[in-house]
Amino acid sequence: MDDRITPEARHFIEIISRFVQDECMPVEDAIEDTGRLPDPLVRTMKHLGLFGLRIPVVYGGSGMNLLDYCFALKELSKSHDAIRAIMSVNNGIGSMAIVNDGTEDQKAHYLPLLASGEYISAFALTEPGAGSDASAIATTAAKSPGGWVLNGMKHFITNAPIADIFTVIAVTDKEKRAKGGITAFIVEKGSKGLTIGNIHNTMGGKGWLQAEVIFDDCFVPDKNLVGSIGSGFKIAMKTLNEGRLSAAASAIGIGERLLSMGVEYAKLRKQFGKAIGEFEAIQWMLADSAMELYAADRMLADTAYRFDHGEDIRTQSSMTKLFATESAFKVADRMLQLHGGMGFMKETKVERMFRDIRAYRIFEGTSEIQRFMIARELLKN
Ligand SMILES: Cc1cc2nc3c(=O)[nH]c(=O)nc-3n(C[C@H](O)[C@H](O)[C@H](O)COP(=O)(O)OP(=O)(O)OC[C@H]3O[C@@H](n4cnc5c(N)ncnc54)[C@H](O)[C@@H]3O)c2cc1C
Repeated sequence: MDDRITPEARHFIEIISRFVQDECMPVEDAIEDTGRLPDPLVRTMKHLGLFGLRIPVVYGGSGMNLLDYCFALKELSKSHDAIRAIMSVNNGIGSMAIVNDGTEDQKAHYLPLLASGEYISAFALTEPGAGSDASAIATTAAKSPGGWVLNGMKHFITNAPIADIFTVIAVTDKEKRAKGGITAFIVEKGSKGLTIGNIHNTMGGKGWLQAEVIFDDCFVPDKNLVGSIGSGFKIAMKTLNEGRLSAAASAIGIGERLLSMGVEYAKLRKQFGKAIGEFEAIQWMLADSAMELYAADRMLADTAYRFDHGEDIRTQSSMTKLFATESAFKVADRMLQLHGGMGFMKETKVERMFRDIRAYRIFEGTSEIQRFMIARELLKN
C-alpha cells in the first residue's frame, strides 16, 4: 500500500476488505438478479460511514483526503459495481458542489444527510443534445421572484430514480453560456415541476440506475443556488476533475479483482496435461495486466497526493482516468479470454465485470475527451 496513505485509512481499508469478502461478495448474484441492493447491506454501509468519506467532519463525514478516499474506494470496488456506485456519488459528483461552493446553510442542511446516507444524491449535467460538449446544455433557469424557474431535460443521470437531491447545471445567460452564463442549483425531490422520465436500459451496471430528469417550470428558491450566478460551469468542471480520479480508482479495483481471479484460474485449469498458467500466452496476459494495473495505481496515488497538496491536477486527472479505465477494460477482456468459455458464463462473474467496466471509458468524460484535454494543454504550452 502507498506509504502516503494515513494509518487510519489503512486500517479502514482493511475493514472494507473484510466487508467486501464477508458481506458484499455473497450478495453479488442477488444484486445482479434483482437490480437492487439488499437493505441489510445498505444499513451496514451507512454504519461504516461509507456515504460520507469525503464529506468534512464538521458536517458528519469522515473528511478523508482524496488519496485515502481513492484507495478506500478502490478496495470497495472489488465488490459489485452497484455497491461502489451508490456511495461514490454521495462522496463525489453528488455532494462536491455543495462541499466546495455551497453556502454555510446549504452545507449545514444537506451534507449531514448525505454523509449518513439518509439522502441519496445525483449530479445532472448531461442532456440529449449536450454530452461531451457540456457547454451546449439547453436546460434554462430564468429569474423569478424569490427564485429561479428551470425548464429542460437531462438524461443518463445516475441515481435519478432514488435521489433526494440533484445538483443541476442550467443556463442563466444564453449569450455568455460557459463563460459566466451557466449556474448550479440544488433541486429537491418532490419539487413541483420535477419529474423522473424513462429509466435507461443498460448493458451493465445492474443495480445502479440512470434516468431522464425533466424540469417543467420547476421552481427553485434563491437559497438553493450554489456558488454565484454564472459560476456553474466552473463548479461542474471542478466536480468532474475530482470525479475522474474516483472513476480511475474504481476501475483499478475491478481490474485487480479480475486479475486475481485470472491467476487462480490459470493455476487450476488444466489443458494438454498442464495448468494453463504454464503456457506463455496465458503468462503474457497476466504479466501485461499486472503491469498496467501497477502503473495505473501509481498514477492514481501520485495525482491524488498532488491534489491534496493544492496542485492543479487537471491534466494528470485526465491522464489517470484515461489510462486506468482503458487498462482495466483490457484486463477484463484478457481475463475473460483466459477463462475460455467459462468466462462467457454468468457463474464466473467475469462477464458481469466485463460489462460493468465498459461504462468507465464513457462516463466522467469519454476517453477521446480525456485525450483532447491532455493534448490541448500540451499544445497551449
Ligand atoms: C453509466 C453512465 C452514467 C452516467 N452518469 C451521469 C450522471 O450521473 N450525470 C451526468 O450528468 N451524466 C452522466 N453520464 C453521461 C456521461 O457523462 C456522458 O455519456 C459522456 O460525457 C459522453 O457524452 P455522450 O454520451 O453524449 O456522448 P457524445 O458526446 O455524443 O460522444 C459520442 C462520441 O463522440 C466522441 N466525441 C465527442 N466529442 C469529441 C471530440 N471533441 N473529439 C473526439 N471525439 C469526440 C465521444 O468520445 C464519443 O465517442 C453517464 C453516462 C453513463 C454511460
